[in-house]
Amino acid sequence: MRILVLNAGSWSLKFQLIETGAGRVMAKGIIEGVGREESTAAYESWRGIRKRFSIAVADYTQAAGTVLACLTDPTDGVLESAAGIEGVGHRIVHGGEHLAESTLLDDSALRLIAACSPLAPLHNPLGLEGIQAARCLLPGVPQVAVFDTSFHQSMPSRAYLYGLPYSYYTSHRIRRYGFHGTSHRYVSERFAEIHNAEPESFKLISCHLGNGCSLCAIDRGRSVDTSMGFTPLEGLVMGTRCGDLDPAVVFHLLEREGLRVEEVDSLLNRHSGLLGLSGVTNDVRELLHLRSQGHPRARLALEVFCYRVKKYIGAFFAVLDGAHAIIFTGGIGENAFALRAEICDSLSSFGVELDPARNEAAAGVEAEISSPGARTRVWVIPTDESLLIARDAERTIRQARGA
Ligand code: ADP
Repeated sequence: MRILVLNAGSWSLKFQLIETGAGRVMAKGIIEGVGREESTAAYESWRGIRKRFSIAVADYTQAAGTVLACLTDPTDGVLESAAGIEGVGHRIVHGGEHLAESTLLDDSALRLIAACSPLAPLHNPLGLEGIQAARCLLPGVPQVAVFDTSFHQSMPSRAYLYGLPYSYYTSHRIRRYGFHGTSHRYVSERFAEIHNAEPESFKLISCHLGNGCSLCAIDRGRSVDTSMGFTPLEGLVMGTRCGDLDPAVVFHLLEREGLRVEEVDSLLNRHSGLLGLSGVTNDVRELLHLRSQGHPRARLALEVFCYRVKKYIGAFFAVLDGAHAIIFTGGIGENAFALRAEICDSLSSFGVELDPARNEAAAGVEAEISSPGARTRVWVIPTDESLLIARDAERTIRQARGA
């Protein structure tokens, strides 16, 4: 089935047209600067065409129109007409507790997504705009929403509840939701596929380390805990987010340092993590380079980053009562072999032992990096959230048709 995958972010619309049978990306690209004075479109197709051009794009409907124009362009396109699109899969950040799996979009599903907007005010409203745009331009084409949160809806209450008065959960839905669900699910299903087995055969610790970072404990195909919480701010030290923090630090910043709420929000989300600790950058490639030049704060930032990942891996070994494998994914997890080595160092009591040559050779490719004979396997599996979204969209559409 040919599925158009759309991801409406702030000022941007990313797209991929995927032929699900072969798992082939027919075309992909991004419209950047939606609603701004200057917008650009980047497009590439499986035929090797690459183009980039400026275009005025006032809203997501115009952005989606540009996507369709690229896909059906008589010279560079991959479709004769938009009728070649059999379904649309939308990446939506928050599905709350009611949208626990990928969902065919009808009016009631749209209302439920809108009801989750207060939980993801920067993301869900944009996702809804992307959906409205696709519905308007592709009337009659089935549309499916795939949520970052839904994989974690299998977490037990002991993992998702905070130690707050229970009424804050029942009345305000304050609980841990977790994110990156499509990525954790993709790599865990891919791990099972590689081993010619069902996901139910394995206990896995999935480490998604990109600009945003999270770990997930996966017990026989189901997420049982994850490091992100009510928002993506909890857990690991990330590119610009602080991760776990004593909430009293916030009171201190508000009361003693005189910061305003928005300033604290911005401090914790945009100026902390690797950027805040190093004082230079959130880019791990640059930090690795700076560290090799003897930059002390780059070294410190990476040390804190790796230590936090290791600590969560240890916690998730306890949660799962042992794991068959650890999987690394995301830009850092797939490429930064030095950090994988630091994270896995001194985890030998959990049966983790890396093969240094395999580890160094694994950059952006699927590979086992543990020593032969190690009790716990360690793998690098590049994530492919768009493919998972396309496949989920296809399955959901077929189920709805009763096929
Ligand atoms: P996002 O969460 O925005 O999708 P990515 O998954 O692309 O981010 O991860 C971005 C991070 O991956 C950056 O810190 C970047 O420096 C790091 N990264 C990408 N390639 C490499 C590499 N070859 N070596 C080390 N780090 C890398």
